[in-house]
Amino acid sequence: MNKYIFTFAISLLAVWTSAANAKDRTQTVIEQIQKKDAAVMKTLELEYKKIGTKYIIKINDGQPLIKSLKDFCRQKNINFALVSGIGALRKATLGFYMPDKKEFRLKNFSEQLSLSGLSGNISSSGEKTEIHLHAVIADDDFKANAGHLQEAEVSQSVELILETSGEKIQKNFNPETGLILFDFNK
Ligand code: FE
Repeated sequence: MNKYIFTFAISLLAVWTSAANAKDRTQTVIEQIQKKDAAVMKTLELEYKKIGTKYIIKINDGQPLIKSLKDFCRQKNINFALVSGIGALRKATLGFYMPDKKEFRLKNFSEQLSLSGLSGNISSSGEKTEIHLHAVIADDDFKANAGHLQEAEVSQSVELILETSGEKIQKNFNPETGLILFDFNK
């Protein structure tokens, strides 16, 4: 008789353990889904990793390059950085500064483009974040155009490296040139 009670108790324990394991498994799956969703949210715009004074940044497909970088710098309170990058674009606007007219001549590109070189800097103008980038973009015939990057739409991915320092470098409007330039007296 005791044997039957023992077997019954063991069976009950097995059922209870199995139910508990199923609950654990369900919880794990929910957590995995939540993590996956969080990762997807993160990949919608921009991902980054900080290594020492460097930010390694991945701007994702469809995002505006300059705006994304500017938003990131505001979020991270970056007031001075060197920028370098490569990647691909599907739209870009380059500018060429004409000193006599004190304005940029703009040219739009709307095709798959290799962002073969991106370099420049980040600084501040008052409370505003100043992004100054020059780009070399190449078409599917390997022909390159270059200039002051006004804005661009990322295709697939753009990889940036920001080398930051804790310094704040200011820029100011320079009436002689019509440009916003470094102002070391600020
Ligand atoms: Fe420029």
